[in-house]
Parts: sequence; structure tokens; C-alpha cells
Amino acid sequence: MAVINENYLKLAGSYLFRETAHRTAAYKEAHPEADVISLGIGDVTQPLPPVCIEAMHKAVDEMAQADTFRGYGPEQGYDFLINAIIESNYKEYGIQPDEVFVSDGAKSDCGNIQEIFSTDNTIAITDPVYPVYLDTNVMAGRTGLLQSDGRYAGVTYLPCTAENGFVPALPEKRVDLIYLCCPNNPTGTTLTREQLKVWVDYARENDSIILFDAAYNAYISEADVPHTIFEIEGAKEVAIEFRSFSKTAGFTGTRCGYIVLPKTVMGKTVSGEKKALNPLWNRRHTTKFNGTAYIIQRGAAAIFTPEGQKQVKATIDYYMENARLIREGMTAAGITCFGGINAPYIWLKTPDNMPSWDFFDKLLKEVNIVGTPGAGFGPCGEGYFRLTAFGSREKTIEAVGRIKDQLKF
Ligand SMILES: *Cc1c(COP(=O)(O)O)cnc(C)c1O
Repeated sequence: MAVINENYLKLAGSYLFRETAHRTAAYKEAHPEADVISLGIGDVTQPLPPVCIEAMHKAVDEMAQADTFRGYGPEQGYDFLINAIIESNYKEYGIQPDEVFVSDGAKSDCGNIQEIFSTDNTIAITDPVYPVYLDTNVMAGRTGLLQSDGRYAGVTYLPCTAENGFVPALPEKRVDLIYLCCPNNPTGTTLTREQLKVWVDYARENDSIILFDAAYNAYISEADVPHTIFEIEGAKEVAIEFRSFSKTAGFTGTRCGYIVLPKTVMGKTVSGEKKALNPLWNRRHTTKFNGTAYIIQRGAAAIFTPEGQKQVKATIDYYMENARLIREGMTAAGITCFGGINAPYIWLKTPDNMPSWDFFDKLLKEVNIVGTPGAGFGPCGEGYFRLTAFGSREKTIEAVGRIKDQLKF
């Protein structure tokens, strides 16, 4: 009999969204008349920008003719998309076409990147956190067992709470790999350029690598928040950046993202010889991935046109107006909240430090609103609660009104 990868047995169940769905369904069944509104969704709801639809239709037509048909494309992505990405986002940092790898999304990239590193590496993650970073390292065997405090042995957790302004402190013990997500899911908060520089400097001094998830960069509205880690001096030696068209342009169901991995980012062999990471990722990507669909890459490239940029901005403005309504409504209701300015997430402090699952039940029962308990994102998420701005304007206004006028605490 084949022996399994027992690291998978260490994983905690994907309990969070299953449990919120289960409790919501049970409530709806018992109260069929209730108008339950979800502010828990972590998915976009507005359609793709018209420029993407047009570009994808055109690409479909190309596929219908032998002389314009495309089969396998370059695994790393077509030049037309890579060049558009660099021209729009990375020109001033000198990023080269062979430092950009187009993929089917940032979840795969964030999960797969750890394969090019030894399982002996130590990792640091923020707490609370997007679960992909942690779970993929558990699967790879880079952690011990899940402990009773909700943490895996052998992992360095970087608490991000209201007390430190959601800015993680540097680890006491040196780590090899550091996952940072900015703007952050789930807290909706950010690091300023100055705060991110502290991490880049740390990585340079300690020969660490920063895995920088910038999936929400399109939502940044404040001037001192970096749009890319490569704005920070020295980052090209220590950072890998993850980007996605999902939250930027509604590609959650369409699938396209990319990694930027400068050739100057180095690791070492066991014997201490320096090796660039870019060729390792290139080898991994071209061996295990056969390219994002041509039609999808054409759709993605369209968002970099002036018209595409306008359309993307209009949708993001729509979500961010929802975020503003939620933030101001919660504040008016006397609830302390964070985020919602550079990200579509609002992170509430639960009233009187109520456990986040109790607050979930209270919100569902008293005002028929669904959100996401902070404890589901890590032990430091306890006492917090996530609302998202991805709903419709109408439902968002209705939900905020109910919390303001009817929630008792
Ligand atoms: C949504 C999200 C992503 C994007 O994932 P895709 O696979 O590109 O859809 C990546 N990181 C975080 C933190 C996210 O919330």
C-alpha cells in the first residue's frame, strides 16, 4: 500500500467558511422569512470590465480560424501581457520580462513558491493570516503539529492586533521566509513605505526572503502605502511579489495572476553557494504549468489600456464606497473598526471583547447579517470580525442600517 504524505494529517479542517455557511443555512431554515444579507463574501460581485469582454470575444474568434489559432503558449505568459504588466507597474524598477511569470492566480503562486525552498527553512506568517501561506507549508512538512493554542509548532507567528496598529514586529529569532500581505486580508490594514522598509532591511541583514502578496494593491488610496515592494530600496535582492487580476479586475472566476521574481534574489545551497531563485522558479513553472489560457491573457492585457484602467477604477470605487459606508456606519454604531481605506475589508473589534463566533451568532440572529469571525484567520483574530465591501450598494446600505439601528449591545 502506498504511504501517504502524513503532513496532510496535521492540517486543521477548512472549518471557517464551512461553519459560517452551516450556521447561516440552519438559521435560514428555522426562519424562512428572514432577509439574510451576507457581508462575509471574499469574492467580487461586479462583472468583468467591458474591455476584457471585448478582448476575450476577439480572442475566441482568433481561436476559430486555423491561421490565428493558438495552441500551447509560452509557459511564463505571452509577451503582450508581460510587457503591459511591466510598462504599467514596474518600469521604474527595471523589472525585465524574464522576471515576470504569468499564472492562473495568486493562490497557486503563493502556495507553490515554497517548493523552491528547502523544507528545513523557517517561516514567519502574520496572525491573523490568509490561510494559504501556512497550509502549504504544513503540507510540505515545514511545521510541527497543530497545538492547543491554535498554532503550529515550529512556525514564527507575527501578531497583528489593534495594540501594534496591525504592524508586525520583527521576529526575535531569525527566519528564512517571511510572508507579508499588504493591503491585508483579513484586516484591511496596510504597511506604510517606512514600515515595509523595516522588513526589507531585516531581510537584507538576515539573508531572509520576503514573499509579498499584493493582491489588493489596486485598492490603495493613501499616498504613503507602497503599490509594490520594489518601491523599497534593496527589495530587488530579497523580495518576490505576487499579484492577481482577481480583486483588481474581477478575475476570480476567470483566473490570472503573476509573480515578479527579480534575478537578483538569492538563496544558497546547503554548502553555502549562492544561487538565484529566478531560474529555479522558471524551471518549476515550465515543468508543472502549461500557461494561462490565451483568451484569458488577452482579457487581462486589456485592463492596462487607458479605457481598461478607467473601468477597473470605476468598479473599485464602487466597492470602496461600500467600504466607506460600512466603516462610517460601524463607527456611528459605536463599534471600533479598522481597514476599509486601502482594502475592501473592514475589521471590527467585537463589542466588549465578545468571542468572534458569539458575535457571528448575535449578528445573524439579531439583524440577519453574515460576516466572518476573526478567530477563523488565526488566534490573534479572536475578538475581531471581518465585513467585506463586495456586496451590492443596496444590500450594504440595508445591512449597515440594521446594525446601526437594531443591534443591541
Ligand atoms: C483573493 C486573494 C488572492 C488572489 O487569489 P487568486 O488565486 O489570484 O484569485 C491572493 N491573496 C490574498 C490574500 C487574497 O485574498
